[in-house]
This record gives sequence, C-alpha cells and structure tokens, in this order.
Amino acid sequence: MSGGDSRDRPMTRVVHAGRDPEAWNGAVNPPLYRVSTVIQASMADRKAAFAERTADGKRMVYGRTGTPTTRALEDALCELEGGHRAQLYPSGLSAIAGAITAFVAAGDTILMTDNAYGPTRTFCDTYLRRMGVKTVYVDPRLGADIARYVTPDVKLVFLESPGSLTFEIADVPAIGRAAKAAGATVMIDNTWATPLFFQPLAHGVDVSIHAGTKYIAGHSDAMLGIAIATEDAWPRLRDGARQTGICVGADEAYLAQRGLRTMAVRLRQHQESTLAVAAWLAARDDVASVLYPALPESPDHALWRRDFAGACGLMAFELATKRADRAAAIVDRLRLFGIGSSWGGYESLAIVADPAAYRTATRWQARGALIRLHVGLEDPADLIADLDAALEAG
Ligand SMILES: *Cc1c(COP(=O)(O)O)cnc(C)c1O
Repeated sequence: MSGGDSRDRPMTRVVHAGRDPEAWNGAVNPPLYRVSTVIQASMADRKAAFAERTADGKRMVYGRTGTPTTRALEDALCELEGGHRAQLYPSGLSAIAGAITAFVAAGDTILMTDNAYGPTRTFCDTYLRRMGVKTVYVDPRLGADIARYVTPDVKLVFLESPGSLTFEIADVPAIGRAAKAAGATVMIDNTWATPLFFQPLAHGVDVSIHAGTKYIAGHSDAMLGIAIATEDAWPRLRDGARQTGICVGADEAYLAQRGLRTMAVRLRQHQESTLAVAAWLAARDDVASVLYPALPESPDHALWRRDFAGACGLMAFELATKRADRAAAIVDRLRLFGIGSSWGGYESLAIVADPAAYRTATRWQARGALIRLHVGLEDPADLIADLDAALEAG
C-alpha cells in the first residue's frame, strides 16, 4: 500500500494521501526526522544525491531542503488538490509572503481582492512596497470585469475566497480566465475551504495557499503554511523557498499530517453545527445579518454551490446595533467561545472585528457591529444556548 488513488472519494483520500508505510518500516505514520546534516557514502554519492534533489527527488541531502517527514505532508496535500508539487512554510503568512515574492519583481503590480486577510495586505503594503512592488485592491465580487484592471504591469492576481471577516465569494474561474489571458499568475488563499471543499488548480489558479495552522493541523497546537503549485508554477515557487531558506520543524509537519487524517469528519461536523448556529442567528431580531455563504439567503450562495463542496466552521454575524462596545460585552459573556486569534481547531472562538478597517477599494456597508465565530466541535445545542444567554443579556 502506498499513497492514495485518484479514483477514491475525498474522504478516503484524506486518510491515505502521502502515506508510504513500506518506506517507514511498516509504521502507519511517517517517522519524525530531526535532521540538519545528512551523511553521504562518498563524494560521488554526494553528487548523485544533490542531482536527485535538484530534480525534486525524495532523497534527503540536508535538513533545510526537506525530510521524509515534511515530504510526506507535502505529497499528501499536493495529491488532495491535484497539484504538481507543494512546499511547506513555517506559518500561513510565511506561505503567502514566500509564494508572492517568488513571482514578483520591482515595478510589478499585484491585484488583490479587497477582503484579503489583514496581515496579507500589510505584507503587500509595507514590505513589498519597499521592494518596489505595488498592490491594487479590487472588489472581490468583480468576476470577469477584473480584465479591466489587468494592465501590462499586473503580474499576479491574488484572491481570497471567501474573504476574511466578510466571506464574499470570488468568481475564481472567471477571474482566472481574465488573468490568464493577460499572462498574469493567479494565487489563492484557500484556507477557509481546505483542500476538501475547493479545488483551485482545477479552476484556473496556479498556486493554492493554506494556513495549515487552521483545519489541517486542526488542534490549535502547531503553526504551518503550505503552497501547492501546478507544474508550470512549481519551479519558481520552489526556487523562491530554496533561495530564502524556508523550512519547517519535524514536529509541525508531523502534527499537521496527523490532523489531516481526521479533517474530513471534523469538517462534516463543523459544517453541520455552523449551519445550525447560522440559521438560528439569522432568525433573531437582534441580528442584522449572517455572513456565511452556505446559508441559502447569502448573496454568495449560488457561487458557493457552483464551486464548493462544503463549508467550514468560520462565519460572522452583524448585530442590529452598530455599537462595538455592545458586541464586546456579548463576546465577554460567552462561556464556550474563547476570545482569540486563529481558528480551525476543535474549539469555538469569538471576536469582535471591524471589516471597514481592512478595506480600500470598496466601502464595507456595515449593518451592525460584527462578531466573528469559529464554531467548534462542541454540541451545537450547547453553543446555541451559550449564544442565546449572551445575546439575551445584552
Ligand atoms: C490565519 C490565516 C492566515 C495566516 O496563517 P498563520 O498560520 O496564522 O500565519 C492566512 N490566511 C487566512 C485566511 C487566515 O485565516
């Protein structure tokens, strides 16, 4: 037995992808390789090892360029998204920064959806700007109209769909076609959908990026990023990572592959519970709107149904009041939802956030103060009771 089979369904592939017990003395999971130096048998053998490594072979030559532990995870995620090869990074943000920098040079322009993750924007607006790369933000619901913005200096189109905090869905195939026609590379932050619910490379994207920190690791105990590339995009992505010394610890890679094996069942429950919470919130008078594309009344529902195979546990809702202090008091009263950054672990989280603070191309039309929820794996009836008590008191 070795690895997955493309005829298998996604839930099966999540269990089998990237595994190779025969190469691991029969162990079900990859051994944890803690490595810097790798010894070669002779100078001729050393030359052969590096040649194999340069050709993307599996042979280990030095800890920084990968081990069987990291390779197993890269192969698994690559297989799940139908990519050519994948590269691990020490965090999701590092994967975003590393993938973008591998594809741009001074004088280039990046087009980015206006609902992108705040730190992604900050990276572009500070670090990349200093390097002479400009970022232009566009309406995430632009679709094929993006062609109007793809001027000759645009070398990269970066999407996040659904977007952080506000969850608009981009028409990825239409944007991909317009970008391709102009010769631009297309990248997506696919963290919300995970490799199970959206397949970007089959929709015209060249590089798909995940914060493995979220559902892939899945237990709030590891930081990791991953970028999965098509065959055309791979050499540039790989060289960017090699040239900047990107590598990840053995423990993080191990934990992420362990989390991956249960991701399909976890997500099934996250989706079921989140739909229940979202529908319950939508029916309340003290809630102005619910932002979750899987909800039938969402303006993005049709696109979500067309392109996605499911929805995760991250959503938001707006209160009927615009007062952020009221929202903060509600979040403070929650007993089962922790207050904290990140998401994708087994536990529920809540924060108050202001999308307007992260917008430049579009104006966020707030209907009320926004609370972002990560709906965890607790019993949804308990989560609803907790939300009910907090909302009723406030
Ligand atoms: C959390 C997050 C990231 C960054 O991941 P880290 O591992 O925390 O660096 C990137 N994109 C999205 C959409 C995220 O939610």
